[in-house]
Amino acid sequence: MDVVNGVGGAFVSLEDLHRSYQLGEARVEALRGINLQLKKGEFTAILGASGSGKSTLLNMLGCIDVPNKGRVLIDGVDILRLTEGAKSRFRNERLGFIFQSFNIIAVLSVYDNIMLPLLINPLIPASERHQRVMDLIVDVGLEPQARSLSNKLSGGQRQRVAIARALVTDPVLVLADEPTANLDSETTQQIIDVMMSMNAKRHVTFFFSTHDEKLIRQVNRVVRIKDGRIVE
Ligand code: ADP
Ligand code: MG
Repeated sequence: MDVVNGVGGAFVSLEDLHRSYQLGEARVEALRGINLQLKKGEFTAILGASGSGKSTLLNMLGCIDVPNKGRVLIDGVDILRLTEGAKSRFRNERLGFIFQSFNIIAVLSVYDNIMLPLLINPLIPASERHQRVMDLIVDVGLEPQARSLSNKLSGGQRQRVAIARALVTDPVLVLADEPTANLDSETTQQIIDVMMSMNAKRHVTFFFSTHDEKLIRQVNRVVRIKDGRIVE
């Protein structure tokens, strides 16, 4: 893969990103020229109302969707120039995802859920898998539940599993789409704290979306999105 420099040497660089959807006769402009740079190790929140374009933007970074126009660089890789196979390898090996609805597998234990991404990641030797999973279980505070089935867990515990699973492959970038939207305010605070401590300890770049104004005091960088544009 060619290494390309982003604007100002940024670790993640989104350049003039446009994405529209055709809905019958109507054209929905979900992203209208997004320019955004993230530094390595930065913890950034994107704040915007429902429908403002947060998920669309995260899907571009996650190599899940492609823009109509623009450029996406992550760690020197020009994502839109990758073949489909290279893109899915990049996604599996270099990115971590955390979702609003947790998306963990209910019939597997905490341990097995966190192990899953390692089983399909050829970069990490089998001999390292167990230790990696155990380190993350300790870091997210789920040691007593390690062998519990995930369907026995609370929402906050499920999101801890999801955070551990997102981090176990040592991704360069973790994307979290409204990870606290289904949690009460106390649990929300705990989940933000876990993500921030992971960011501090492992120097992983985090980008997470929220519509919750209360969260903006917690994080060191907030960008606002409105009608598909970054507004501050
Ligand atoms: P958010 O995550 O901030 O709630 P989204 O990125 O999901 O916002 O949506 C931004 C806009 O794009 C909305 O108007 C939404 O209706 C529209 N949109 C998103 N995905 C699609 C799609 N697959 N087809 C049509 N319109 C879509
Ligand atoms: Mg969304």
